[in-house]
Amino acid sequence: MHQDAYDPAEFWSRDQIEATQLTRLKNVVARVYKKNAFYRKRLDEAGVSPESIRSLDDIERIPFTTKDDLRSQYPLGLVIVPEEELVRLHCSSGTTGTPVAIAHTQNDLNTWADLMARCLHMVGVRREDVFQNMSGYGLFTGGLGIHSGAERLGCMTIPAGPGNTARQIKLVKDFHTTVAHILPSYALILGERIREMGENPADLPLRIAVVGAEPYTAAFRQRIEDLFNMKVYNSYGLSEMNGPGVAFECQEQNGLHIWEDAYFAEIVDPETGRHVAPGEVGELVMTTLVREGMPILRYRTRDLTRFLPGTCPCGRLHHRMDRILGRSDDMFICKGVNIYPQQIEDVLMKFPEVGRNYLILLDNDNVGDILRVQVEIREEYFVEDLRVLRGLQNRIAHALRSEILVTPRIELVQSNSLPVSDGKAVRFKDQRNSK
Ligand code: ADP
Ligand code: ZN
Repeated sequence: MHQDAYDPAEFWSRDQIEATQLTRLKNVVARVYKKNAFYRKRLDEAGVSPESIRSLDDIERIPFTTKDDLRSQYPLGLVIVPEEELVRLHCSSGTTGTPVAIAHTQNDLNTWADLMARCLHMVGVRREDVFQNMSGYGLFTGGLGIHSGAERLGCMTIPAGPGNTARQIKLVKDFHTTVAHILPSYALILGERIREMGENPADLPLRIAVVGAEPYTAAFRQRIEDLFNMKVYNSYGLSEMNGPGVAFECQEQNGLHIWEDAYFAEIVDPETGRHVAPGEVGELVMTTLVREGMPILRYRTRDLTRFLPGTCPCGRLHHRMDRILGRSDDMFICKGVNIYPQQIEDVLMKFPEVGRNYLILLDNDNVGDILRVQVEIREEYFVEDLRVLRGLQNRIAHALRSEILVTPRIELVQSNSLPVSDGKAVRFKDQRNSK
């Protein structure tokens, strides 16, 4: 086994990966065809029999599964094992619309914990580490999903949950927490609170954070790393594919390896559903290759990314995807221009004066759309000299205009004045039809 591996599958050759994928793909199609009325009907309608899957290219013949399909099968319509074999239920956090339920067998939980442990091990987490999980528990998979992986690896794992900053810091200090899992939006809040308490976040024993569950830019990551003097690794997952542990950055911090022994990943044009050209941005589509209780074929994640070209210096040949550029349903159209909130964040984070939070508001009057961006300014920059603030406002507006082609109104606000949430951050509000 490769010396850096937690699981030998990490360092498989492309041949090994693809041969395993084909065997597993055939197997999952055969199982759902036999055991599930919904999939059998879908596959029959598309003229796909399990025997007709002969190569990995045949996956394109399999119909997509959408979030609406999963909702239509709520609660357990896609489960293919006897219900007494199920041991855990999760739901997607419902960032968009009604939740979707995903049920797991004990084997599913084991595989998931192994995948998660593999991710943590890859970025240098070891059993000697103390792991503090600052994400929500409950139905949200970022709680128990990450927790089980850290335990599996052998870390002392603290289920701290989100918020309660004072307790969070006390735990880090008292138990010498070296690794944390944290939402990007909460990481900066935590750092700022520590500073307000007159302490330096960089003095804490934290050396690694795994950060994910919502999109954030490279510039945002840099801020978290600088603030805490620790390494931040991007963690991607979604409830429909278990949760965290689907794709993870290695120590190169350049793209996320997708664990292709467990998932088949494709990137499609959201309009046509066809594979995009190599390296082009599109919607990530995923198939579970090993899930026992509730397999899902060709799930339309609505997350936008691209496969990164070339091989990773770390030696792992599992394809890498770029950080998530946004959800296809995140995009908004303002004055006829397509804009992703991530583009705005990218510009804002380049201004040292900008604090930890911002909010994008879209309104309209009888002339047309009005884009407003409320930006928290760090305490030390929130000066009384109006000219200085006006100047900053203009510079931000200009920088945004050259990125998104629309000139927004910039409203500078004091730090800690914009609303924060315990779960995923709400960065955008479309108020156009509410008037
Ligand atoms: P919901 O869809 O209700 O938010 P989940 O908790 O399953 O429920 O969230 C999964 C989604 O979270 C992904 O589809 C993706 O949009 C987002 N996400 C997860 N990890 C990341 C990440 N590292 N970067 C960007 N987005 C992420
Ligand atoms: Zn790598």
